[in-house]
Amino acid sequence: MAGTADANAIGTLRAAPPARYAEIQVSIAPLFRSYVIVSRQQIRENYRAVCQTVGPGVTVAAVVKAEAYGHGMLEVARVLEAEGARWLAVSSVEEGVALRDAGLQADVLVMAGVLPYEWEVVLAKGLTPVVHALEELPLLEAAAARIEKPAAFHLKLDSGMGRLGTRASAAHIAEALEPLRAARLQGLMTHFASAADFTTPQTDQQVAAFEAMAAELRQRGIAPRFLHLSSTNAMAYPRPQSWKSMVRPGHAIYGYVSPARGSHRTPRLVVRPALTWRARVVAVKDLPAGAPVGYGASFVAPQAMRVAVVAAGYADGVQHRLGNRGKVIARGKLAPIVGTVSMDLTTIDVSAVPELRAGDEVTLLGREGDVVLDAQQIAKSAGTISYNVLCAIKPRVRRIYE
Ligand SMILES: *Cc1c(COP(=O)(O)O)cnc(C)c1O
Repeated sequence: MAGTADANAIGTLRAAPPARYAEIQVSIAPLFRSYVIVSRQQIRENYRAVCQTVGPGVTVAAVVKAEAYGHGMLEVARVLEAEGARWLAVSSVEEGVALRDAGLQADVLVMAGVLPYEWEVVLAKGLTPVVHALEELPLLEAAAARIEKPAAFHLKLDSGMGRLGTRASAAHIAEALEPLRAARLQGLMTHFASAADFTTPQTDQQVAAFEAMAAELRQRGIAPRFLHLSSTNAMAYPRPQSWKSMVRPGHAIYGYVSPARGSHRTPRLVVRPALTWRARVVAVKDLPAGAPVGYGASFVAPQAMRVAVVAAGYADGVQHRLGNRGKVIARGKLAPIVGTVSMDLTTIDVSAVPELRAGDEVTLLGREGDVVLDAQQIAKSAGTISYNVLCAIKPRVRRIYE
């Protein structure tokens, strides 16, 4: 990930667009073809907005899995820790280890499964595993005994999503917990399948199933410190009954809330995108009417037009399905993508901005003045979800933090 020096270099460059590109390239080394700028301040504000929404009694475990949804896991984790975050959540043990190795101190919940050979490293690195099946408990207990470390864990219930989580009865859970000595149940959790969908009772049913199980376990003397169910959607379209003692926001930290289905609800949680993605123009040229553009000639110029070839393609994370559908922002105007998105290049129609030149920047995701292109809009054009648009931005696109 780029450091402060890079950020300053780009900052200077953006403040004063180069009149003579070649000269500036000599004096400023990293002139990236395509780069992402992440606003630390916006991450902070989004995190605060989540904390305010759920109130002081609820622990916020900010989700930084998948390179913090493309924003860069370590940098985002540092920002959140400095902001007071006591808990972070990741998917894999590998991600948790990377946080520890970078010196992050927060408790780290590993949410997407621990493989049979990973239990020792989980505990050695001070990570908090989520257990998804009762058969995992003896492995955890044995690892904890071997390396003589306390082993707080969270147990996930499958309350109706049908993915990870145990479907065991309270009696079986109690029986499996009973012999544990080194391992200790710290949290009971579940995950919603459809929290932004108000056409289905699924979320209410999941809450009811979870609460019933928590009550049955309580009757058996099992009362873990944290109960948690909610990710972004259950906070944004508030279901306070599901906040309990911990929440797990991911998308919201990065400034997004999925649109609700089945109602005209507007999210109550106000967050803003923290990521801007830019790329440079490699070439500008004029095409005559009838000229085909790109692989497969899926676009043919209907009249004489000016196109620009942009230095980012699907190998950088531009959605292939944006071919002939998507747009970018060039000089403050929306410029349609024409033809197929290639591996390293994307062609756009710049007939409306003829002053665009090679070396100029366009915005693939972000805003220029009043013109906005966010991950939600891009997802709609590409027939996918905003999560996928963000996570698709590849590591070769340099991340710069401001
Ligand atoms: C990814 C994930 C989250 C965060 O979800 P968002 O919709 O991004 O807020 C929370 N909990 C679990 C189990 C997850 O896998």
